[in-house]
Amino acid sequence: MLQDLYRNLVISHDKYRKNNGMLDGENVQKVHYKNPTCGDVITLYLRIENEIVQDVSFEGEGCSISMASSSMMTELIKNRDVETISTYRDSFEQLIRHGEKPVDNIDLGDALALEGVHKLRARHNCALMAWQALDKILDDGEAYRKRKEVVKSI
Ligand code: ZN
Repeated sequence: MLQDLYRNLVISHDKYRKNNGMLDGENVQKVHYKNPTCGDVITLYLRIENEIVQDVSFEGEGCSISMASSSMMTELIKNRDVETISTYRDSFEQLIRHGEKPVDNIDLGDALALEGVHKLRARHNCALMAWQALDKILDDGEAYRKRKEVVKSI
């Protein structure tokens, strides 16, 4: 069953976290973020060069939804450009908050397994925590900011 597959993906990303650990070196940006709803915490590390996420990692503690979502996000954004990432981010938030499936050209990968979180309102912030941490870094970036202005003007 699809639901079992999704549940297993969440469990496995929580247990065997992708891109787990810290990054250091030049051009690494770091942000701490906390989900007050559930007490989940994340430290996200990003190395962005030429508007592309060259490397990403995270350290965190929290419920399985928050940690699985963090792991899935790092896989999704690594080696991608900031503009593409911003469309993923919006699409994922729509999925969680409104239960809206991504349009065809947006492939959320394993993160799709979190779609059931939509029905668990109290857990929305768990699923979104890593992406909100990402906002804190990317909101300073030009491509991301440009997009937000476009969205606002529509
Ligand atoms: Zn949580």
